[in-house]
Amino acid sequence: MNNVCFICNISKSEFTENSISFSKHTKNTHYIWNYVSFIVGLLEKDHNEYNGIESYIAQKYSNKETDWLPFQVTGMLKNRTITEEEARDLKISRIEQKIDELRLSLQPKDN
Ligand SMILES: [Zn+2]
Repeated sequence: MNNVCFICNISKSEFTENSISFSKHTKNTHYIWNYVSFIVGLLEKDHNEYNGIESYIAQKYSNKETDWLPFQVTGMLKNRTITEEEARDLKISRIEQKIDELRLSLQPKDN
């Protein structure tokens, strides 16, 4: 059970506190498969046919940059105020989490 939106990294509790359905958010607004199919479509498309935003995202994607994703932002929480410092701290904790996951996946498995 995931308690954080995979796209914007905002916690389920914050949606609940603002009387917004977290499941609606993750199934509509930030539905991960929309992002996945967008990327797949981009990779399959002829690079010469990219429009401005597509070239921008394709470039970011090939550099493994994720700052084009709406990190800590969603139109559903319009009055949300998060300082740059809070956003940075959350970004760091997300990176730390990824490192832990990576470390776990690299551990030799006992047979
Ligand atoms: Zn989200």
